[in-house]
Amino acid sequence: MKDKKIRFETEVIHLGYQTDEHENSLVPPIYQTSTFTFANAEQGERRFSGAEEGFIYSRLGNPTVKILEERMAALEKGEAALAFASGMAAVSSVLMALTKTGDHILCSKGVYGCTYGLLQILKQKYQINHDFSLMDSTEELERSIQPNTACIYIETPINPTMKLVDLQMVAHIAKAKGIPVVVDNTFCSPYLQTPLSFGCDIVIHSATKYICGHGDVIAGLASGSKECMELISRTTQKDVGGILSPFDAWLLLRGLKTLPVRMDRHCDNAEKLFAFLENHPKVEAIYFPGDSQHPDYPIMKKQMNRSGGMISFAIKGSKATAQLFMNHLQLIKIAVSLGDAETLIQHPATMTHSTVPAGERIKMGIEDNLVRLSVGLEAWEDIKEDLEQAFAKI
Ligand SMILES: *Cc1c(COP(=O)(O)O)cnc(C)c1O
Repeated sequence: MKDKKIRFETEVIHLGYQTDEHENSLVPPIYQTSTFTFANAEQGERRFSGAEEGFIYSRLGNPTVKILEERMAALEKGEAALAFASGMAAVSSVLMALTKTGDHILCSKGVYGCTYGLLQILKQKYQINHDFSLMDSTEELERSIQPNTACIYIETPINPTMKLVDLQMVAHIAKAKGIPVVVDNTFCSPYLQTPLSFGCDIVIHSATKYICGHGDVIAGLASGSKECMELISRTTQKDVGGILSPFDAWLLLRGLKTLPVRMDRHCDNAEKLFAFLENHPKVEAIYFPGDSQHPDYPIMKKQMNRSGGMISFAIKGSKATAQLFMNHLQLIKIAVSLGDAETLIQHPATMTHSTVPAGERIKMGIEDNLVRLSVGLEAWEDIKEDLEQAFAKI
């Protein structure tokens, strides 16, 4: 098996792990240790100088975490990957490694709330500025890139309005200017979208979501070239220190095994629920990458394998109507986060996007009557019936 090329569904289960290197344990052991002993003082010297490979201290590397990193690198079509204590630890380590005072970051119009917060910190404390760009045409993108742009940062689909950014188009322009492109791929997972194969440089995940898939871990991952990952690992990952624990790495390895099976079910359920919601008399607008009427549908066809498990929809009425609808749900849980077995619903205007000023928020299409559904793995009919009974009560 060692050198044979294997497929994605097999990689998520086997890649990066040899049972005969770990007492023939079928499942990777949890190396729950802070440090590693050296046979003698000289070996310690060799490990620290890099003359000899091997573990030193778990913040610098841990065998359980390493299996996860190797597996993730392959799944994202990268050369290397790094694991972090949270999605935000991954985002901050990557952005801090790529930028310095006086630089500029160009972002897609719409990023995760705490990424938005981090950009404010970088600006206020370190004079690293940023702008948001629609990235909907080569002309607009070229105009938005500044002489000091040190990195382009993209989320696609954009949360919660599901607008898409053409990754190949952005990567092509950025490459010509030598600017690295970073993509937050949390909404897709590598099963649905692999940004590195479209020429992007670094992929980030909040592994808390689909990669874990079971709602019991907070974790982050970054993948890319060996050179990029080495830069991050020997600077911001090591010295800022937001590393992943061996136990959480083990839970992610367990979650990853079923990623393709889970994603197909999330997608199947979401497609069926979209068909139900699309023509519902109480739904004013709906945002789903799999909507063939959506202007970004051709981009979805080009860069995503399927359209994912996230649907946002505006309910006819006010904020109070949307909240009443949510309160009447019985099976569907009111919670932020996504990608879990349980179907979750949240209200972006007062939850995930509550820190965005109201005017800005409305411009982004996040009205007070919009809700976001993370479609779970339950029988889709049960999810539909729960939505139906809540619609009947508003
Ligand atoms: C949740 C999320 C993050 C942050 O990840 P944490 O694991 O919560 O730190 C970043 N980006 C996106 C798109 C997310 O959904």
